[in-house]
Amino acid sequence: MYEIKAYACGYSGCKKALRTKQGMKLHESKCFYNPDKKACATCDYYENTNDNKRKCHHGIDINDKPKNGCNKYTHCHGLIWGNCYVM
Ligand SMILES: [Zn+2]
Repeated sequence: MYEIKAYACGYSGCKKALRTKQGMKLHESKCFYNPDKKACATCDYYENTNDNKRKCHHGIDINDKPKNGCNKYTHCHGLIWGNCYVM
């Protein structure tokens, strides 16, 4: 065996690692965990339920596929369903 150098994605929650820096830069620009993408993964309305189903608390159907660039996207770090509060 031999050791390789890799670059890990900087967005928390994402476990992706790639061998090239350029490759990772490209990945980070499209990563679902990048809040700029407005994707389900970082949305406060998103919930991964116990039975491993996806649930959107805005009622958007995401069972087949999580959404990207959603216009209901909310990311404010502290949320009691629907209402942001300051931490
Ligand atoms: Zn990533």
